[in-house]
Amino acid sequence: MIRYGQQDITQADIDAVVEVLKSTNLTQGPAITRFEQSVINYCNVKHAVAVNSATSALHIACLALGLGKGDWLWTTPNTFVASANCALYCGAKVDFVDIDARTYNLCPEKLEEKLVRAKKENRLPKVVVPVHLSGQPCNMEAIHKLSKEYGFRIIEDASHAIGGKYKNKPIGNCEFSDITIFSFHPVKIITTAEGGMAVTNDDELATQLGLLRSHGITREPELMTKEMDGPWYYQQVALGYNYRMTDMQAALGASQINRLDEYVARRHAIAQRYDELFSDVAVTVPWQHPDSYSGLHLYVIRLQLNRINKTHLEVFNYMRSKEIIVNLHYIPVHTQPYYEKMGFKPGDYPESEQYYLEAISIPMYPTLTIEQQNEVVNVLKEALMS
Ligand SMILES: *Cc1c(COP(=O)(O)O)cnc(C)c1O
Repeated sequence: MIRYGQQDITQADIDAVVEVLKSTNLTQGPAITRFEQSVINYCNVKHAVAVNSATSALHIACLALGLGKGDWLWTTPNTFVASANCALYCGAKVDFVDIDARTYNLCPEKLEEKLVRAKKENRLPKVVVPVHLSGQPCNMEAIHKLSKEYGFRIIEDASHAIGGKYKNKPIGNCEFSDITIFSFHPVKIITTAEGGMAVTNDDELATQLGLLRSHGITREPELMTKEMDGPWYYQQVALGYNYRMTDMQAALGASQINRLDEYVARRHAIAQRYDELFSDVAVTVPWQHPDSYSGLHLYVIRLQLNRINKTHLEVFNYMRSKEIIVNLHYIPVHTQPYYEKMGFKPGDYPESEQYYLEAISIPMYPTLTIEQQNEVVNVLKEALMS
């Protein structure tokens, strides 16, 4: 069986986790700070707050930016539901901007058109969440420029994108955003089993993120709003959650990040080989914008349905029957029943919907062997011909 994604756990990872298990702190200990610092160094950003998932990171990022009742958050329909759900957690409303036909990312031109209309109707977004699909960064410079013109804040959903670069600088440096979030779910680029992180250059946002991760409680006198009673004292100054990452997870993350560059390089080698092997096949391979060095979390092909006598579903089923566990990223969020109940309907975002009819995520992970890759390509060719 060859899955579309697969974690890589080495002896060094196992040793790092075991070391924490034998130490005094299983949570709220030094491994958290160590992992946060390694991400700070890697991304060249000022602050990092480790949490128990990217979903939690999105939630507290929205709260830190003051998203609340009556506000709008805009994102792309071509994402995991968490990129949109975070607004609903805050009592805010969600709207979508359709994707670019080549990168499959939120389209800045469509964003601008929608902003022009929203301004007239007095319903501009407070937060926009660009998602770096497959690890390929969005056109952040254009989105950032629009944020200055229309007064919205930006959370980069970089769940797919740690290890990638935008204009030769690490994704996560927050040059064009307020906050960037990462996911460390096992199918993503590096893993902590479950886990996520929010990074920012803004001191005040970092403080808020830190509070919100742990009940809104602080032990730092300068964050307290009244006198300290004594050395046991802590103060709750906001309503937060328990979104903490454990030290076992952080130790795993800090060990994994040592291999991040190697992983992404390997993903690029695999992608390049796929590109070549598919040169005479009726599929569209992922286009890479010259500004981007993708993390390549996913390798998404699009079937050229007018050139084959098979349906998307038939190709998908054939590959799964041969134990190539392909997947589809993503079902357009606005077509989910929960979102349709809010009034969204098929036809609202045609580019995302067309993509959904053709896209297949084929196996892509650093330990995929040449033989396995050949098998994937052969089975796909069979699926298209048979
Ligand atoms: C995986 C993913 C998330 C959620 O990540 P978790 O760590 O599982 O909460 C959010 N957004 C995108 C784009 C993702 O791929």
